Amino acid sequence: MIQLINVTKRYGTVTALTDLNLKIHEGETFGLLGPNGAGKTTTLRLVAGLARPTEGQVRVAGLDPWERGDAVRRQMGVVLDGGLLYNDLTVWENLLLFAGLFGVSERAAHDALVQMGASDLKNRLAGKLSKGQRQRVALARAILHGPRLLYLDEPTSGLDPLATDELHRLIRNLRSQGVTILLSSHDMAEVEALCDRVCILQRGRMVACGAPAALKAEHGPSLTDAFIQLTGRAQ
Ligand code: ATP
Repeated sequence: MIQLINVTKRYGTVTALTDLNLKIHEGETFGLLGPNGAGKTTTLRLVAGLARPTEGQVRVAGLDPWERGDAVRRQMGVVLDGGLLYNDLTVWENLLLFAGLFGVSERAAHDALVQMGASDLKNRLAGKLSKGQRQRVALARAILHGPRLLYLDEPTSGLDPLATDELHRLIRNLRSQGVTILLSSHDMAEVEALCDRVCILQRGRMVACGAPAALKAEHGPSLTDAFIQLTGRAQ
């Protein structure tokens, strides 16, 4: 689904990614981990066609996202911090706005809200939602056009355990429908709960990639220990 081949990305004199090779398979939930500044956002920008690799190639569903950005983004849903919702609009107005942008029906917007268990929030102002409600609406907004690929950036940051558990259930549901999920998170429990494989970036280089259990076995005992060993104290 996503392939990065020998990708280097420089911003002027800053090298954000160095010779990155990554293959994310259709239908898998893949965790993109790394300390602040490691290159996670840069990787997403390359995948979404919002940045061009300085060297190497990026492919999403066989397409070059820089050349075919619109086609790639049509297949992508994104949940970023804040949910990309307009606070002064109701939930339903927000959904209709995005449905219009993607050229999908009101029915699709309605179905997305139902799938995320958020149809009772339809007439609420987005700015007045709790964090958990907002994230469910943000997910509905991200999936209403039926994307094959979903990028989730810290999806449960600041949520209580119950809301986190509910959101994880919704994310697993999407996975079971065959959606490929790229998850960026600093919450190792979340990563373990959701991801088939993870890649750990450190200063723009990949320092580990594999199933959470394999990383723990090699660098553990916990995923947090593995993360610290690979990106922190032991280096
Ligand atoms: P965080 O967890 O803090 O969001 P990140 O892993 O997403 O970090 P990136 O935002 O990809 O990291 O940044 C990687 C490196 O590239 C950093 O050194 C950052 O300062 C640099 N960088 C990112 N975008 C730009 C830009 N537009 N111009 C210059 N440097 C940039």
